[in-house]
Amino acid sequence: MSPKIRADVLRMTPYVPGKPIDEVKRELGLTDVVKLASNENPLGPSPRAVEAVRQAASQLHLYPDASGHALKEAVANRFGLPMNQVVLGNGSDELIHLLGLVYLEPGDNIVTGSPSFVRYDAAAGLSGAEHRRVPLDAEWRHDLGRMLEACDDHTKLVFIANPHNPTGTVLAHAEVAEFCRQLPASAMLVLDEAYFEFGQDVDDPVRSVDLLKSGANVSVLRTFSKAYGLAGIRIGFGLVPADLADAMDRAREPFNVNSLAQSAAIAALGDSEFLHQSVESNKAGILRIENQMAEWGFPTVPSRANFICIDVKRPGQDVFQELLKLGVIVRSGGPLGMPGHIRVSIGTSEEIEVFLRAFAQVVLGAGV
Ligand code: PMP
Repeated sequence: MSPKIRADVLRMTPYVPGKPIDEVKRELGLTDVVKLASNENPLGPSPRAVEAVRQAASQLHLYPDASGHALKEAVANRFGLPMNQVVLGNGSDELIHLLGLVYLEPGDNIVTGSPSFVRYDAAAGLSGAEHRRVPLDAEWRHDLGRMLEACDDHTKLVFIANPHNPTGTVLAHAEVAEFCRQLPASAMLVLDEAYFEFGQDVDDPVRSVDLLKSGANVSVLRTFSKAYGLAGIRIGFGLVPADLADAMDRAREPFNVNSLAQSAAIAALGDSEFLHQSVESNKAGILRIENQMAEWGFPTVPSRANFICIDVKRPGQDVFQELLKLGVIVRSGGPLGMPGHIRVSIGTSEEIEVFLRAFAQVVLGAGV
């Protein structure tokens, strides 16, 4: 038997990703499988990023730039921030992990909505910190008043995904700015904007970078995994106060962001055409599903992300299983904290039609 493992670690549950396409093909003997489960970009990667990776591949014998200078510079210029406020991560997942590592000790706590993105729990659990979960309101939005009540002087991190995962709901700037003003001085508000690009077409969008620039205790996380289509290469960034960037730099692995990811991200950042297409295609997909579900009488949660939650009026797990048998992988709402829902990532228009036909067969017992 190996040496005793830390109890904090054994309490953790491993992350459960969306079911891989090949696994579903193998297990169910299917040839055509559509995956709408991991909020990936259905248009593929930014073509400019693919070309950059091709070119960078000839340098794979060299270690990456440990400081990520060129990418940090590009990000800093884009947001009008000094480079010492930009941090890079192996996906924004790593940045969430690093925030836990640099801030949390036993006796500290984090505050999040419930349900929310599962990795916040890991950030707390690995450091032996308490995780205070505040139920979302009746409209699946963060209940900021109750979140404030849950904070105390031991609150170090407050995570808000905006647009939120798993619900796709958004907050307005005015309410987040007010929330920020009222947070205890001990706390860092982390605005996790993994789905930022899809959520701009709203009244009073949260101006997170302005909050950071105003000197508030705010950190902003963004990713190239969604709108830029680079989930497989793992690259995200954070815009944070300089002292936090310094701490994260000390705690991270020296070469946490590989060279292909750095090159891909710089190219993707300049590919505004691809970004525009991704956002527009997503908007059309959300509308198509919303309208069809409204016609069939299934409520949807208003989403500004690249997925949508559907109230299936029965256990989401059952609908998930039945859809799987027809070769359509979605997410069961149960493990995400929404047991009566399924969460469907927005695919191409063809994939959406495949999903809708399967949904009709499973839930309405009809072909469409
Ligand atoms: N935050 C949220 C809210 C997410 O949904 C995700 C992706 N599942 C991430 C962070 C992590 O994204 P990545 O590590 O791919 O950048």
